[in-house]
Amino acid sequence: MADKRDYYEVLGLSKTATEDEIKKAYRQLAKKYHPDANPGDKEAEVKFKEASEAYAVLSDGEKRRQYDQFGHSAFDGGAGGAGGFDFTNMDMGDIFGDIFGDLFGGGRTRRASNGPMKGPNVRAGVRITFEEAVTGVDKELDINLKEECTTCGGSGAKPGTGTETCKKCGGKGQVVYTQQSLFGMVRNVQSCPDCNGTGKVIKDKCSVCYGSGYVNRKKKIQVSIPAGIDNGQSIRIRDKGEPGVNGGERGDLLVEVTVARHPIFQRQEYDIFSTAPISYAKAALGGDVKISTVDGDVLYTVKPGTQTDTKVRLRGKGIPTLRNKQVRGDHYVTLVVQVPSKLTADQKELLQKFEEAMEGKSEPESHEGDKEKEKGKKKFFGKDK
Ligand SMILES: [Zn+2]
Ligand SMILES: [Zn+2]
Repeated sequence: MADKRDYYEVLGLSKTATEDEIKKAYRQLAKKYHPDANPGDKEAEVKFKEASEAYAVLSDGEKRRQYDQFGHSAFDGGAGGAGGFDFTNMDMGDIFGDIFGDLFGGGRTRRASNGPMKGPNVRAGVRITFEEAVTGVDKELDINLKEECTTCGGSGAKPGTGTETCKKCGGKGQVVYTQQSLFGMVRNVQSCPDCNGTGKVIKDKCSVCYGSGYVNRKKKIQVSIPAGIDNGQSIRIRDKGEPGVNGGERGDLLVEVTVARHPIFQRQEYDIFSTAPISYAKAALGGDVKISTVDGDVLYTVKPGTQTDTKVRLRGKGIPTLRNKQVRGDHYVTLVVQVPSKLTADQKELLQKFEEAMEGKSEPESHEGDKEKEKGKKKFFGKDK
């Protein structure tokens, strides 16, 4: 242990540091090097141990005095036997309660809080159709809501009976554990699990709520799902979660919405994408094509000579935005030219004629300006044969 660093140096303090300065310095180091914040980092673990050890000594008036006088040798050859500092008789629980209580949100020693606390949130799910997501919909959900037991008024005790002192903790509300940890054996003070830190337990449990003070009631809850909701989004319903503690408000109910897939429409943000079939003749000649939208079928006029994979944008036919139902995305349609796979004898004949016409055996209908070009093409075909 010859190369052991000076405890003041470890905490970055001078020998005249006050109790507050020591605490503050350790708090900063502990936060930085805590194993929970640096999983698997050996160096951080060593630094954390080093700082904890320094703090354990310097925060204790008697140990600090010994250290100031004798240095590290004040603690050498202690009962620990591991060669390091002996933590066996140290109440680490108190240190952690002090330092980590508000550092890690409750930390290792959860102290019984008597202040009002909001109850936990409850999660539920609801499934809706693609169309319902477009228009918005009201749904009724069956939710198991925890409510105060009316038989015992929430006390959990059989009416007419009271409470008695908790046997496990002797009414102190806290229990002490000895635990193997980073530092060797440490004592840990924790809130008593039997009485939840109150120091009192119920003598005769209420037969309706089995002593919990709460009963589950099935409740029908209305959920108003707004137009534009997307798959995976949640709706918060205030005050429909679990009851609060010590007069705290109830938690919230979070309803996650699952939107079913649609056979033809795909959604991306507020836009809709789909494909629509178009006949070969219509693509060539132009005309009205029936396209399905969430508002029903619409007629779209395609230009003559429309190619397959042509994309068409139907403005404002997409999904309403959550902020404003009137503002909607667009609907993009990809036109897919269909090639007939089954033909009657008549249709075959017509197509045959069409093919011959395309090969230049009959005069194509064309504009004056195109005449020369068409002639050139014909010549070319003719020469080739
Ligand atoms: Zn009860
Ligand atoms: Zn207890």
